[in-house]
Amino acid sequence: MVGYMMSLKKYSKQLYAKLNLIQIFKLWGVPTKLHISFTIAVILLFIYFGTLGFIQFIYQTIMIMILMFCLISHEYGHALAAKRYDITTHDIVITPVGGVARIVNLFANPKQEIVIAIAGPLVNIIYFCIGMLLYAFEIPYVHYFVYYFCLINIIMGVFNLIPAYPMDGGRVLRAILTYVTKDKIISHKISIMISQFISVCFIILGFMYNLINVIIIAVLLLVLAQAEKHDKTIYRIKKL
Ligand SMILES: [Zn+2]
Repeated sequence: MVGYMMSLKKYSKQLYAKLNLIQIFKLWGVPTKLHISFTIAVILLFIYFGTLGFIQFIYQTIMIMILMFCLISHEYGHALAAKRYDITTHDIVITPVGGVARIVNLFANPKQEIVIAIAGPLVNIIYFCIGMLLYAFEIPYVHYFVYYFCLINIIMGVFNLIPAYPMDGGRVLRAILTYVTKDKIISHKISIMISQFISVCFIILGFMYNLINVIIIAVLLLVLAQAEKHDKTIYRIKKL
């Protein structure tokens, strides 16, 4: 699952129209909402789990809950870091491919963008460390769930740091490029090009090793990077 941030833009407003969202709770003033596509996917998944028997149903439900907890925590990492700079997070939306923290004025300052982008994966790295400590105790019944918790967090933390836009690593790369070039528009364009190159490499690797998941995520990143390429808000912000 991809956990990325998004500034509020026309296309995101259309995709995340109010009707498509179901609010589940609100923490630190930031609501968490389920996208209708995610809700439908979960209902279908639970129907499938139901066919596997009671034990499997409980087991798979716990796995989904762990995954959701890690993903939502990742997004709140972004939201709380943004709050530190008085930057508003409109909401956190959970979709079938991951979570999105919709942050207002995300491009305000490269230093702030680095801190906000790193805060998400940092939550996962901290969870991973806590999980590894618990794993060492080999607690009966929960040992495998602790292993799963560690695995999810290390994958989520490291994967999101890949410098492909609009994932967290891509935002960090763009902010660093902004420091170097002192030009937001050039750094935006370079980071989009690097992202597209990385996505194409993943698609090739996916086909070479028959990894359908990698191909799907890489195509999704390519589409998102293309959408970000035409993001007009970047051109409106003059102050670094
Ligand atoms: Zn993130």
